[in-house]
Amino acid sequence: MFSRILILAVVLLAAACGERPEGGESPTFQGQHPIKVVATTGIVADLARNIGGALLEVSELMGPGIDPHLYQASPGDISLINRADLVLYNGLHLEGKMGEIFERVGRRKPVHAVTDGIPQERLLDDEGAADPHLWFDVALWADTIAPLTEFLAHFDPANADRYRDNAERYRQELLALDREVRESLATLPADRRVLVTAHDAFGYFGRAYDVEVHAIQGISTESEAGLHEINALVDLLVKRRIPAVFIETSVSEKNIRALLEGASRRGAKVRIGGELYSDALGPKGTGAETYSGMVRHNVRQIVEALGG
Ligand SMILES: [Zn+2]
Repeated sequence: MFSRILILAVVLLAAACGERPEGGESPTFQGQHPIKVVATTGIVADLARNIGGALLEVSELMGPGIDPHLYQASPGDISLINRADLVLYNGLHLEGKMGEIFERVGRRKPVHAVTDGIPQERLLDDEGAADPHLWFDVALWADTIAPLTEFLAHFDPANADRYRDNAERYRQELLALDREVRESLATLPADRRVLVTAHDAFGYFGRAYDVEVHAIQGISTESEAGLHEINALVDLLVKRRIPAVFIETSVSEKNIRALLEGASRRGAKVRIGGELYSDALGPKGTGAETYSGMVRHNVRQIVEALGG
């Protein structure tokens, strides 16, 4: 009798650890709350915390100052992912070096890209690739809430109503934030609404809030910036009398410094307008450790530097 139970237990354990059969039912949560969630960026983790509240224990792999385009998972990350109940990531190749991991883990446990479910026509295209930085259009980011909420509700159906209630409250919060951003930027005169940054993370921001955006590097930080890009931007700064450019906490300042030197050699006064959080949240205590906080921080820096 005992041996039969043991065999059954081994078979069940093997089934639980093994790969999900093709077309099989996706698993639902059977354990004790909180559900262990691993998210890639702090931005994705913050979204999950707002929807899951105390039902989830969310850890992020990429802390303040970490560039997701270049990030490679460490052995510690892999073991965190292996122990997690759920895995969340941004998608659209933001985490360019982790695609294979998500694919492999996705055969064993539920994995969700938060940008899944955003219609193609609302994504910005950059030479055939979708721009992954959609959190800078706050209303568009709010549209990632519903698919993530349904993903959580499906995994933990007993608490579906709690996820949906939290989601609706957070969606309203983000729609209010979207209006706030719009009103702040509207205080800048039209000719001052020009944002120059190190890498092209602000395309959605520009489209949503009517700001012209320029960057030295493309939507990924993988490719090196050329002298040609730097010279073209120096030209723009000088001719349009743009007062400030911005550094990003997750990207090297080197190229921005080259811009300032170039502008200065041509007699233009351009300064650093401050640090923006582009692909990573701020450290605890900065006020930018949440998504809403980082958006407010960025908008305040931009309005102060370009409006002054
Ligand atoms: Zn980026």
